[in-house]
Amino acid sequence: MSPARPRPVLATVPLYAPDPSPVEIDLSDNVNLWGVPPAAERVLRNPLAAQPSVYPRSDPVELREALARYAGVSAAQVVTGCGSDDVIDGALRAFAAPGEKVAYSAPSFSMLVSFARVNGLQPAPVPFAKDGDVDPDALLAQRAAITYVCSPNNPTGSGVSAAALERVVTRAEGLVLVDEAYGEFSGQTAVSLLARAPQLLVTRTLSKAFGLAGLRVGYGLAAPEVVQVLEKVRGPYKVNVLGEKAALAALREDVSWVRRRVEESVAIRDRLRDALEVLGLRALPSSANFLCLPVPDSAALGRALLGRGIKVRVLRELPGIGDAVRIGVGPWGLMERLLAALGEGLR
Ligand code: PMP
Repeated sequence: MSPARPRPVLATVPLYAPDPSPVEIDLSDNVNLWGVPPAAERVLRNPLAAQPSVYPRSDPVELREALARYAGVSAAQVVTGCGSDDVIDGALRAFAAPGEKVAYSAPSFSMLVSFARVNGLQPAPVPFAKDGDVDPDALLAQRAAITYVCSPNNPTGSGVSAAALERVVTRAEGLVLVDEAYGEFSGQTAVSLLARAPQLLVTRTLSKAFGLAGLRVGYGLAAPEVVQVLEKVRGPYKVNVLGEKAALAALREDVSWVRRRVEESVAIRDRLRDALEVLGLRALPSSANFLCLPVPDSAALGRALLGRGIKVRVLRELPGIGDAVRIGVGPWGLMERLLAALGEGLR
C-alpha cells in the first residue's frame, strides 16, 4: 500500500470533473456566452504588459478599490481570491472548526458540499420552503458555524426573498455566507445588510456576468475584521497579474457593457422558458442566467443533446426535484439550436 494515505473523508468527495469533450455549443457552465467585455479584451491582447515574470502584489489594492466602488462598500470590506470558489473555501476553513456544521438549502452549489467535507466540516442540508424560497427557520435550527445561502440558487435558479435573507443574516449564530455568483441577474443583493450584520460575508465573481471565468477572479464583501481573517487563510498571490489587470479594466470601463448583457440574458431566459413551455417542458422559475429543467432521465437527454453538439449540465436525483438539466442562457441563436434539438423529440 502507498505510504501516502489521504484522509478517509476524501473518499466521500467527488472529483469536480465536468465532461471535457469539445462541443459546439456549451450551455453547461452559466458563463457569459457573449464573451469577454471590450476593455478587458484590450488588456488581454497584450499579456506581457502585465509583467508576468514578477509576482503580483500580495494585496491587489487597486482591484480591491475598484471592486469596492462597484459594490458600494469600502476597500477594507473587500477580499479577493482565485475565483469565488477560493473565497468560499477559505471562509469555511476560517469560520468553522473540524466537525462543525455548514447549513444550506438543498439542492445547492455542489462545490459547497465538497469544500465542507474537505475542510472536515459536516454538511447540514435543509429543504427549501414550499414556495421555493429558503426556509430561514430550518436553516437557523441547525445552529451551524456557517450558514450558506446561494442567491440566486445554483442549480435551481430560484431567488431568495429579502425577508428570508434578512432573517437568516440577522439571526444566525455563526458566519452567514451569501453566495451572489449570479447576483447581477437577480438584481438583489445582501450588501445593504453588511452595515448591521458583522457576521455576513457576500461572495461574488467576475466569472459570470463579467465574462472572465477563465481568469479566475472572485471576491468577498464583509466587515474589515472578517476580511482580515480571510486574507490570512487564503494566502498571497491568488489573483494573477493578467487577471488583476483585465478585471480592473472591466470594472473601470465595461460595467455598462455588463449591464446590457445582463438585461439581454434576463430577457432571453424568460423567452426561452416560454418557448420550452410550448414544447411541453416546464423549467423552474429562475432569477439567474440559466434554467433548471426537470426531466425524467437527465443522463439520456444530456447524451442526446451532446450528439447534436450541445452540452447542458446533467443533474441526477436532486432533492425535491429529481433529474434535471441546467441550461445556460446565451444569444438567442444558440437557444434556437437547443429548442430545435428538443423539438426533435429528444425528451
Ligand atoms: N458559486 C456558485 C453558485 C457557482 O455556480 C460558482 C461557479 N459555478 C461559483 C460560486 C464559483 O465561481 P468562480 O470560482 O468562478 O467565481
